[in-house]
Amino acid sequence: MRKILVVGAGQSGLQLALGLQSHGYEVTLMSNRTADEIRSGRVMSTQCMFHTALQHERDLQLNFWESQAPKIEGLGVSVAAPGSWAEGPAARAIDWVGRLDGSAQSVDQRVKMAGWMETFAQRGGQLVIHGAAVSDLDYFSRTYDLVLVSAGKGELVSMFGRDASRSPYSEPQRALAVSYVHGLGPRPEHPDYDAVRCNLVPGVGELFVMPTLTTSGRADILFWEGIPGGPLDVFNGVKDPAEHLSLTLELMERYTPWEYARAAKVELTDAGGTLAGRYAPTVRNPIGRLPGGGLVLGVADVVVANDPITGQGSNSASKCAASYLASILERGEKEFDEEWMQGTFDRYWDTAQHVTKWTNAMLAPPPEHILNLIGAAGQLQPAADRFANAFNDPSDFENFFYEPEKTAAYLASLS
Ligand SMILES: Cc1cc2nc3c(=O)[nH]c(=O)nc-3n(C[C@H](O)[C@H](O)[C@H](O)COP(=O)(O)OP(=O)(O)OC[C@H]3O[C@@H](n4cnc5c(N)ncnc54)[C@H](O)[C@@H]3O)c2cc1C
Repeated sequence: MRKILVVGAGQSGLQLALGLQSHGYEVTLMSNRTADEIRSGRVMSTQCMFHTALQHERDLQLNFWESQAPKIEGLGVSVAAPGSWAEGPAARAIDWVGRLDGSAQSVDQRVKMAGWMETFAQRGGQLVIHGAAVSDLDYFSRTYDLVLVSAGKGELVSMFGRDASRSPYSEPQRALAVSYVHGLGPRPEHPDYDAVRCNLVPGVGELFVMPTLTTSGRADILFWEGIPGGPLDVFNGVKDPAEHLSLTLELMERYTPWEYARAAKVELTDAGGTLAGRYAPTVRNPIGRLPGGGLVLGVADVVVANDPITGQGSNSASKCAASYLASILERGEKEFDEEWMQGTFDRYWDTAQHVTKWTNAMLAPPPEHILNLIGAAGQLQPAADRFANAFNDPSDFENFFYEPEKTAAYLASLS
């Protein structure tokens, strides 16, 4: 049977390793952390996943936490009135919620990756705890039929050249600050069901709020994305989790007081419940060339890392894993050569390009027609629903989002 090495045990690496394992491949998975270290470590993401990505997990019978995780049935948008925070707490100018056709959910990656890693080992997979270096891969590319690098945004990305034509930004576009909390009050706008809420503060940044399943049960995530150098870019160097949370709340009081009103009783889920950082969104060449001449194929964030402003990375990782799995299975016993590697990535890029285009657009100040669309969705429920469901299939944004004429024609068709 064909021998495959997967380097990196995140959403894409584990999903691929478990998928290949279920088809009888001899899979080795290399992780720089044990399951226990992941479970007791720091949060890594907000990982809200929509229907298509969740379905790939279901297809492999990996949806172990589906019944426990809060069911996210809508996606809401609030916009602060520009400048309204100058004299006191901001006023909310826009507020709507779109209903998702298929529900979404967030399972803390500490829970999911630790659980999946244990499952992989229990099913007979070879799990190696080791932080791989390029020199290791040089050796392994000679002993395995295929080496897949799914190590996220870590150091191994240096093997994969940046694709400047697909990477419009060379610097981080947002400063990220995440807090996992217990005790957030019910959402007054629709207390009967859960939703992700995107709060846009023009010229300042965004606050995302969503329910999740974490190591201690149900919780909520408060996630600030701040424009670098702006008033939300204050988390750098904050080491104390309590200070991180109090900064988060202070900013909510000023810029999103409607969310702050629910947060009077919140406390951090655990000492690892905060995360801060930033990175430049980057598309890379998918094939890594090793000093000894071997080739490795990059997976998910290694090759296409978008800013989390659109909450797509885990979704894309799941879609990438599903697409690569299909390409590997279709290849049968033939060699995994350079042409196959490029074709495998190109097939994934057919889907991924829509995520990159949309995410990069959301990082820029919105043009007037997009402001009109977001405003109109408050009066036109079908527009709110369509916007929400495009988080599941971002290719739909081509039909009504980027070009003013298409947006106008779409809105006209609804009135
Ligand atoms: C703040 C934040 C919020 C986010 N919110 C969302 C969201 O709401 N929805 C969404 O879909 N996505 C979200 N994302 C993005 C999402 O988390 C990532 O895109 C996704 O996890 C990428 O999956 P991956 O498999 O490519 O890599 P990762 O999940 O990063 O996994 C890589 C793994 O490889 C390991 N590794 C690294 N180097 C080595 C090495 N040398 N040897 C061995 N192992 C190694 C790492 O420890 C890690 O376990 C968010 C990201 C951030 C930072």
